Amino acid sequence: METALLLPSAETYSRASEILSGGGLVAFPTETVYGLGANALDSNAVLSVFAAKGRPADNPLIVHIHDQAQLEPLCTLPEGAQELMDAFWPGPLTILCNKKPVVPDTVTAGLPTVAVRMPSHPVARALLQACNLPVAAPSANSSGRPSPTTAAHVMEDMKGKIPLIIDGGMCDVGVESTVLDLCHGDPVVLRPGGITPGMISSVLGRNVQIAGSVLRPLRENETALSPGMRYKHYAPHAVVTLVEGPSERVVPLLRKLSLEQEADGVKSCVLCFTEHVDQLSDCRPHDIGSFSDPSEIAHRLFDVLRKLDEEGMEAVFSEVIPPEGVGLAVMNRLGRAAAFRTIKA
Ligand code: AMP
Ligand code: MG
Repeated sequence: METALLLPSAETYSRASEILSGGGLVAFPTETVYGLGANALDSNAVLSVFAAKGRPADNPLIVHIHDQAQLEPLCTLPEGAQELMDAFWPGPLTILCNKKPVVPDTVTAGLPTVAVRMPSHPVARALLQACNLPVAAPSANSSGRPSPTTAAHVMEDMKGKIPLIIDGGMCDVGVESTVLDLCHGDPVVLRPGGITPGMISSVLGRNVQIAGSVLRPLRENETALSPGMRYKHYAPHAVVTLVEGPSERVVPLLRKLSLEQEADGVKSCVLCFTEHVDQLSDCRPHDIGSFSDPSEIAHRLFDVLRKLDEEGMEAVFSEVIPPEGVGLAVMNRLGRAAAFRTIKA
């Protein structure tokens, strides 16, 4: 299959709508990462999303809408959902709702809940308006690879597998949406993202829990609240190790670890803050952004992780940030890229 890469235009949206209505797939930018969209009400179209990504069938998809009125046929809202939608939509917050029968089981992987989100990216909004369908869209990467934050990343993974990618430039937030469960008692963040637990808590006026497996591996026999948490994710081919501690100890240790690997013939590099690039100039520093700007680190992270593969890195040592605010989303993704392998400096 020929994969077209088109800039947003009225013509592009009408071609994309035709593809979606006909059961085909379209990759499009959102403010978080690029999504791979299918008509959420068409089970066969949804199945082809799983096929294109190589995604396990038990990992459910998020349904994207442009207007809250589209929710009525799809689901009922749990307590607190309306307040959060009013506060944060359109934006990077996904909310689990109680599914109605019209939503195919292929979308929800058989779960009684359906995850819904209204993206804010102008291209995503224009596409959702043009097709006027609820669009099931996971991230547009091959399963297990870092999520795509540019159209070129999508092309790397989806070339020949889908008919159309809409190029909307680099995604702003850079990590996937916050996934929030309000259906099972206390609010629980299943996946951290741009909307932080603190922001949610301040709207709900109650405490928000964070799923245990956000910052550690799932334990044996532990059920994943969010099926996606079970899978290895965001991982480059290299063995990634996180190094934590005070920066006056972390920086020399990063350098030592990386140079030792190089001496053993293992291609190695470091991921470090802008402030430390100069001190690490002899071990292929990859600038993840300033330590004072976690949003910038989120914005760059997946692009940096993909570059590691392009460059054939085999061992990577990375700095860490405090898991607070957007830093929680960054450390969830970095932690999983490293399979939570951590050394204390
Ligand atoms: P992605 O679409 O690639 O951003 O992944 C969507 C994430 O949302 C995955 O981690 C899913 O496991 C999670 N998710 C989607 N629907 C549900 C649901 N009904 N219950 C729990 N987690 C969900
Ligand atoms: Mg994904």
